[in-house]
Amino acid sequence: MSSSIPFASLACSLVVFLAVAGGLVFFLMRKRDSGVSREAPAGFAPAPLAREIVCFLRFEGEEDESYVQDIARRFSRISSAAQARDAALALVRAAPTATHAWLGPKSEVPDLGAIRSGLGFGAYIGLYASARTALDTVADDRSLDRVVQTLRDVAKWTDAEFVNAQVLSPQAGTSGPVLVAVNPESRPGMQLCAYCGHPNPAHETVCANCGARAAS
Ligand SMILES: [Zn+2]
Repeated sequence: MSSSIPFASLACSLVVFLAVAGGLVFFLMRKRDSGVSREAPAGFAPAPLAREIVCFLRFEGEEDESYVQDIARRFSRISSAAQARDAALALVRAAPTATHAWLGPKSEVPDLGAIRSGLGFGAYIGLYASARTALDTVADDRSLDRVVQTLRDVAKWTDAEFVNAQVLSPQAGTSGPVLVAVNPESRPGMQLCAYCGHPNPAHETVCANCGARAAS
């Protein structure tokens, strides 16, 4: 009697343990399954191509803000493919530190000078590009590398492709496209700090946020 009780409770614990472990394995497998199946159907529909596109980027910080203001000054008038290429390239160079982005067909932007933002600070810059060939309007604007890819396409324009282009300095208000926060890991040339997750330029050896050494 005295020995059968511990045995019974041991057997009981074993059954409970197996049930919990089995349930955990089942849960993890389900989770993995749903993770795999999520990618296909819930992914973004392919973005339409457009001959007229508009791209907006938002920046924070004194250095970035003065850099984009400088771009707006340098390219106040664009009248050739060469100038459009240079303007697009200037935005490509600025883009890795952009915080928010929007890229879409011109048909979705009734006013080139207006964007919507709940953020009361930061600097905005945009590019309107009209080409003879179609450009990718980017399905998911959080993917900064995809946004930059379209800007790179403009930066490769031939004279024959150029129709029109304009650097934009939009005002944040209550109408216009809503810029979305970019995924830090989608920033071209950026790497995430292994300790705190802060995105740093790939050439930096020390994290700007926590001071940790970057893994080389
Ligand atoms: Zn860090």
